[in-house]
Amino acid sequence: MAQKITEPARELPVVTEADVVVAGGGPGGLPAAIAAARHGARVVLIERYGFLGGLATAGLVAPILGHTASHSTTPIVEGLLKEVTERMHALGGAPTWEEACQEWGIRFDAEAFKYVADEMVQEAGVDLLLHTFVADAIVEDGRIKGVIIESKSGRQAVLGRVVIDATGDADVAFRAGAPTKQGRPFDGRVQSMGSFIHLGGVPNLNEAERSAIVEKIRQAMEEGRLQFYNPNLASINTMQRDFFSPNMTRWAGDPTNVRDLTQAELGIRREAWKLLQFLREEVPGFEGAYLRLISPQIGVRESRQIVGEYTLTGQDVQEGRKFGDAIARGSWWIDIHCPMGLTYPVHLCVVECPRQERCPFWAAEHDKSMIAQDDLYPPDDDWYEIPYRCLVPREVDNLLVAGRCISATHEGMAGARVMGTCMAIGQAAGTAAALAVHGGITPRDVDVDELRRTLQADGALV
Ligand SMILES: Cc1cc2nc3c(=O)[nH]c(=O)nc-3n(C[C@H](O)[C@H](O)[C@H](O)COP(=O)(O)OP(=O)(O)OC[C@H]3O[C@@H](n4cnc5c(N)ncnc54)[C@H](O)[C@@H]3O)c2cc1C
Repeated sequence: MAQKITEPARELPVVTEADVVVAGGGPGGLPAAIAAARHGARVVLIERYGFLGGLATAGLVAPILGHTASHSTTPIVEGLLKEVTERMHALGGAPTWEEACQEWGIRFDAEAFKYVADEMVQEAGVDLLLHTFVADAIVEDGRIKGVIIESKSGRQAVLGRVVIDATGDADVAFRAGAPTKQGRPFDGRVQSMGSFIHLGGVPNLNEAERSAIVEKIRQAMEEGRLQFYNPNLASINTMQRDFFSPNMTRWAGDPTNVRDLTQAELGIRREAWKLLQFLREEVPGFEGAYLRLISPQIGVRESRQIVGEYTLTGQDVQEGRKFGDAIARGSWWIDIHCPMGLTYPVHLCVVECPRQERCPFWAAEHDKSMIAQDDLYPPDDDWYEIPYRCLVPREVDNLLVAGRCISATHEGMAGARVMGTCMAIGQAAGTAAALAVHGGITPRDVDVDELRRTLQADGALV
């Protein structure tokens, strides 16, 4: 048994008292903070890194998905997502909104996202604390009163009337004692993690040359010399043409376990360097290739989530289900990256998986809940809705969540996790928090019709 040390009780300085405290400045937290502040709430936004954006910047994840209906160009998320896109476009860091809707995702430059985020939170009057980790929750009589932060300034407290947990990992909800869950019900495994790579020094390739390189990498994966889940090296997910930004890496583990996170960072960097060596030595034209950047943090697709008043399911995604208390729309499908971390030829967790013999799903006869490749999608040109209840945790009051830690099953989250959907959820969470503050009520008691009307007036599609 691990040795334990009891921390002596200490009085902590209160840095600030706000109406709304937002923990985490990623695709969930950023719009939450902006929306709450634009609706007149005094907002503190707390982010552990020196910049905002979450996986959109620290993870180099791109493009932003979920902005249009299933297999369609009809927009289903606008509001702050559209504004962020247009502001990035003005910096040359994204296409126009109209162009973006013609593409499967919104390509963008991470630095443009960071700068637009900086500008928007400052313009909205948000009190921003960067380089600050939310370490704990302050709870009294089942109500969250604020959070405890750790930074170079020491251990301090931030108080607030409503707290929004947008940490991606439900850190605050967990610390506050709200019920949480993680991963598949039968083994707790979550989707694989992964990092984006920016590969520079690459040649200008035509379609045929691209296909030839992809085939060469696929061959090396087939032979077990490279461990990636797909060979799409030449992907361009940003606005820049002088480097590739592939999403090929995969690592299994528990994103709430610091040992697993450490192994993931080390392992992915090893694979990225192996790839570079392979390219330099075996692919003509790549002799001068270099690793421009590996994402500063391992990307987490799924981790701890709250158990809320409603839990979004895979069936909701498949049916394109609508709800009376809808606050956001999603169109991304049940996109589960193998929780075992198996790489090529394994891509998704589906009935047709070629490595069934290595999977507990099959061994434990959980296969009945597995989904066939053709059944992963919402109906064409349609979407599912996210009920407000998915943002409201059980048991703890004055707390909301935004982003990928909302209440959803393993399958439901596989759809709702993409950044377009997280941003729509974030805008709703911030707006709800402001309504709760102005009404002197808890977020649980917010009038959802008023929330929906307010979101619509702000350009959000609900
Ligand atoms: C490999 C990979 C590929 C993906 N591909 C795509 C894609 O192509 N398109 C797409 O739209 N989505 C994609 N996703 C999903 C998407 O990136 C995430 O689901 C989304 O970013 C979730 O947003 P979030 O705000 O909930 O969490 P995050 O983006 O993780 O943001 C959480 C924020 O909270 C901060 N934080 C966390 N804990 C604390 C704490 N205790 N104190 C202070 N700050 C804290 C973090 O630093 C971060 O800024 C991908 C994900 C991965 C991992």
